[in-house]
Amino acid sequence: MKRFKRSAQLFQKSQRHLAGGVSSMLRASSKPLPLFFKSYSGTKLVDVDGNRYLDFTLAWGPLILGSSHPAVTRAVQNQIRQFQCLGAQHELEIEVAEKICQMVPCSERVAYSSTGSEAVQLALRLARAATGRPKIVKFEGHYHGWMDNILLGYHPQPPLQTAPQAELTTEGQSPAILGDVVVLPWNDAPGLEACLRERSHEIAGIITEPILCNSSCLMPLPGYLQALRKLATRYGVVLIFDEVITGFRVAPGGAQSLFGVVPDLAIFGKAVAGGFPLSVVVGKKEFMDLIPQKRVTHAGTFNGNPVSLAAARATLGVLNARGGAPLKSARKLGERLIAGIGRLAEEGEIPLLINGVGTAFHLSFTVRSEMRNYRDTLDADTQKRDAFLEAMLQEGVYLLSDGRWYVSAAHTQADIELALKAVRKAFVRIKSSKVGG
Ligand code: PMP
Repeated sequence: MKRFKRSAQLFQKSQRHLAGGVSSMLRASSKPLPLFFKSYSGTKLVDVDGNRYLDFTLAWGPLILGSSHPAVTRAVQNQIRQFQCLGAQHELEIEVAEKICQMVPCSERVAYSSTGSEAVQLALRLARAATGRPKIVKFEGHYHGWMDNILLGYHPQPPLQTAPQAELTTEGQSPAILGDVVVLPWNDAPGLEACLRERSHEIAGIITEPILCNSSCLMPLPGYLQALRKLATRYGVVLIFDEVITGFRVAPGGAQSLFGVVPDLAIFGKAVAGGFPLSVVVGKKEFMDLIPQKRVTHAGTFNGNPVSLAAARATLGVLNARGGAPLKSARKLGERLIAGIGRLAEEGEIPLLINGVGTAFHLSFTVRSEMRNYRDTLDADTQKRDAFLEAMLQEGVYLLSDGRWYVSAAHTQADIELALKAVRKAFVRIKSSKVGG
């Protein structure tokens, strides 16, 4: 802990006035303690004790170009000089909307807000208004923000009911919403079909993370997203992809372009503005038009914020440069990293399963060769994962506390080599310390 002396002092001090000493609950679970940082440039972080890290957290996803990318920084600085907050119309709103509609297959219209959680709310509202039905199908293990009406069946802890349930997640959550959400297992098209056959008259929408990034980066089974699309169309239900993580990360047009499945509505956040708060609901005109028809209310003081939109224009501009080379390079580097980690695990005889794609993947310490849904992730060895994360931190590599890795367009081949060296050492360390099973 001597290494983190200043962070420990600041964490103590912070708790005196800031609830819990962190600004988002998930950050409290960082081990050995929530660190404080003083600089973050590209892929390099320095904490307040002077420890240096190679970063694979990307601030939980937004920094798809790395931290303080020159084009984003310049755009934001220029915008602040012009105006920083407007509460009226400006041309960046049009430019970014046009760009998103060019990039994202389902996007005929867009609506801006600031966070993923609130954008999800608009998508759910549009689905209910379009169908006149009250309920939403969501899948166990998927996260769609922290609001009452969707924070259900996220990470239920054992002992679990036989089938996924809509159960309250937190104290203070209104029980009135329990009847509005049906929670189903993911990657189970027959299960969804059975539900829709019986209850489609009351189901407005199906919301899914197209890659289950919030539970070990699980991939959809081949044909699963296509089956969702077919079932939604057959039963007149609105299909919503929550691309808050996958958007502008797994492909320029998000997971919907990667898998070739076009939802009715989709939600983007995180990477779209390269580190500034912006979220976007996009979708087909027939649904999005419910807003200008004044059938669905959508509002927000910071909607269309000029600074965030300047950052978005710069971010999307860089991502689209040279035929989309930046994301292609990130993905390729990520794939090399995955292959390298897999090889090291094999050599070190460490049972490991890597799920996900090059730019967003997850390490599970497990003997399983496949995971299809949230429940399959529960027997992975989290003690070993935590020991691995701590060893990586010692080696100067900063990772998310659930074992997820994000690779950005700012990472280089040298970063990948450095990370693999650290992984080799971390594997030796966790093997000799005999943590977990
Ligand atoms: N949807 C998904 C898939 C997410 O991962 C998140 C945040 N991690 C959200 C929605 C909520 O976004 P925000 O934290 O910006 O409210």
